[in-house]
Amino acid sequence: MKQVKCNRCENFVLKSKVEGYTYSCDSCEEELYTIETYAVDVSAVKWAAIVAFSQLSRMRNKFPLETWFLQLLRIIKQR
Ligand SMILES: [Zn+2]
Repeated sequence: MKQVKCNRCENFVLKSKVEGYTYSCDSCEEELYTIETYAVDVSAVKWAAIVAFSQLSRMRNKFPLETWFLQLLRIIKQR
């Protein structure tokens, strides 16, 4: 399974929504041409883990650990 990485930061890139560009890099916050990227072979399992991890860290940004902890305390108190 081929996945595409950014030449500059080695982050996995997404398909660009901007016309004229092929990919966009989340961590550089830049639109990229194909020549600014390279393809790597990633097994399906490893890719699933990478996607799950990046979604998890994105959720952590929205709901920091403290928020989870406070919610947990609230639930415990209610019982
Ligand atoms: Zn990048």
